[in-house]
Amino acid sequence: MKANKLEMMRNLGIMAHIDAGKTTVTEQILWRTGKIHKVGAVHDGDATMDFGEEESRRGITISSAATTCEWSVHDATYQVNIIDTPGHVDFTMEVERALRVLDGAVALFCAVGGVEPQSETVWRQADRYDVPRMAFINKMDRPGADFDGVLDQMRDRLGCEPLALQLPIGAGDAFVGVVDLIEARGFGWEDGQMVDVPIPEAMRPRIEGARATLIERAVETDEAMLERYLDGQDPTSQELYFALRGLTLAGEVIPVLCGAALAHIGTDLLLDAMVRYLPSPLDKGSVTSSDGALTRAPDATAPLAALAFKLVVDKFVGQLTFARVYSGTIARGDRIMNASTGKTNRVARIYRMHANRREEVEQVQAGDIAALVGLKSTHTGDTLTSEDEPILLESIDRPDPVVWLSIEPGSKADQTRLSEALAKLCAEDPSLRFMTDEQTGQAVLGGMGELQLEVIVSRLSNEFDLDAQVGRPKVSYRETITSESSHRLRFKRQNGGSGMFAEVELQVAPRPRGHGVTFEVAVKGGAVPREYHGAVEAGVMEGTQNGPRGGFELVDMHVTLVDGGYHDEDSSDLAFKIAASMALEEAVKLASPRLLEPVMRVEVTTPDEFIGDMMSDLASRRGRVQGTGVRASATIIEALVPLAQMFGYASRSRSLSQGRASYAMNLDTWDIVPESAAKSIDLAS
Ligand code: GDP
Repeated sequence: MKANKLEMMRNLGIMAHIDAGKTTVTEQILWRTGKIHKVGAVHDGDATMDFGEEESRRGITISSAATTCEWSVHDATYQVNIIDTPGHVDFTMEVERALRVLDGAVALFCAVGGVEPQSETVWRQADRYDVPRMAFINKMDRPGADFDGVLDQMRDRLGCEPLALQLPIGAGDAFVGVVDLIEARGFGWEDGQMVDVPIPEAMRPRIEGARATLIERAVETDEAMLERYLDGQDPTSQELYFALRGLTLAGEVIPVLCGAALAHIGTDLLLDAMVRYLPSPLDKGSVTSSDGALTRAPDATAPLAALAFKLVVDKFVGQLTFARVYSGTIARGDRIMNASTGKTNRVARIYRMHANRREEVEQVQAGDIAALVGLKSTHTGDTLTSEDEPILLESIDRPDPVVWLSIEPGSKADQTRLSEALAKLCAEDPSLRFMTDEQTGQAVLGGMGELQLEVIVSRLSNEFDLDAQVGRPKVSYRETITSESSHRLRFKRQNGGSGMFAEVELQVAPRPRGHGVTFEVAVKGGAVPREYHGAVEAGVMEGTQNGPRGGFELVDMHVTLVDGGYHDEDSSDLAFKIAASMALEEAVKLASPRLLEPVMRVEVTTPDEFIGDMMSDLASRRGRVQGTGVRASATIIEALVPLAQMFGYASRSRSLSQGRASYAMNLDTWDIVPESAAKSIDLAS
């Protein structure tokens, strides 16, 4: 291994709102880096990154496979792993796990649409993971393209400091190239090749202003450079690159570039900037174990620490586990341990995935990403480590599903195949849950949105050749109490000579939303001996699994054991557990129990002429409009709408707006279902 290998590596994602041009930009990047020769057109469904059949068919990128390419700047060759990051909010989980394993990202904006609600959502996710970013303003060739407008939106909506490294030459039909502010040089494109173009005289003053802003921001980082600048000496390009890299890694500025990927304009310079300003695994530094006790440095000779972040079933090689290696080396034939399950597996083969082929490699080292074959029973989020010096990394957050779909095989004979296929799909995507409903005995599949479940059902048919029967999507409900109450219960059984006895008095009180169930013991004078407190708590927790309104989980309440009684011979753990569970049931019934439902924050973007229709439709869905705003010639309506009312919204909003409105939604909170609506909820199923 070359000593500088890690510095020459980049693990990057491209984050974008749907339709901003992520597929086109990625295609261009893979084409420029020379690994593919034909650029797939998205509408034909043959774009290279979208290699799942389902993705090709829908024309949206939903998986986060990693693709490796190479790019040279100043004779130095970098390895760039591009981690695909989906743009649709139903797939936030996919975004989270991509963010976990990438070191830096390019945020892509449409020069006309600007910063859309979904871009904001993903931006905030990236903020949470401290991912250094740069921005590329795409589609500068579209009528209405507004470079400065997007910069303003980035400031206002994302609260960041965008720093233009380029200015567009023209816009819309007149867009011909960009001025690189650092080199003060104009670039145009001919037949997809970068060529020098003269800078239009009229642009000079603007360029000088923008270049001064850039330089002033950069020289602030270094006293010597600042002094020289104040003495009238401009920093060199190399000095500027270095200073801007520091500012980008610290998250202080967002370097901004622009272009038109479809017209092959700007992607070479984007690649230069990606390796120049975004972090290498060395910048990312060490990883820490989930308990905070251990760290592992990005060093190929250190003990192994890797994270499985994506499982893909490949038609030819079987199960592929995509892993990010943080430290150590995985070589073909190695035995590695899954620290999350304690199981050890042998790595049969290691692949590096390129745009249109997979390359078998002998080993993968710290800082890199590869696909491994042979890791049975590995799930997304598991840590892969060495048996001798294991480490357990933080897993990937697993959200609770909010939508459920009953699912049955087309024929009895397919039962086992269906369960196996669903188990595989759930291992791939931890936001999916597959289980048997205890009350109805029916198999149900849970997820984060209607679209996500639809995709799974069609994958069952396309990839597994299984035609499953599915019911209508159903919402997850929970229950809570809305007032305080208490109940005293004596549990007594006489069975021949031996008996059972326990007496408890429980108090219940509501807690704020999202605070779960807590339990406290406040008995005086040993009315319930200490040895039974654990059993009372277990009984209470068991009781919370089954609320009185519909058998849903009870949440957000505080339970106190205030008093009770016992019998020297007949009291037992079991008796106290039963008594506690029964007492809780009664206390909850007296505490005005209510149903809770997931409420979504919905952001609808619509042309003005449809505002009235869109608003009244939202109102008919029990939606509460929170506000409206204007964004790039469209109106944004922000509303809170119960998820139960959002089924079928995609097609309804399309038909109301002649296909021109779009929306994004995210779980906002769990809220009490109004009694009038609760009556119509089909609790039996
Ligand atoms: P994604 O949803 O973000 O992956 O976006 P796509 O790459 O699929 O692009 C969405 C649409 O925008 C497609 O019809 C592209 O042809 C088009 N598009 C992408 N880049 C450009 C561009 O630079 N200029 C113009 N005018 N259209 C573009």
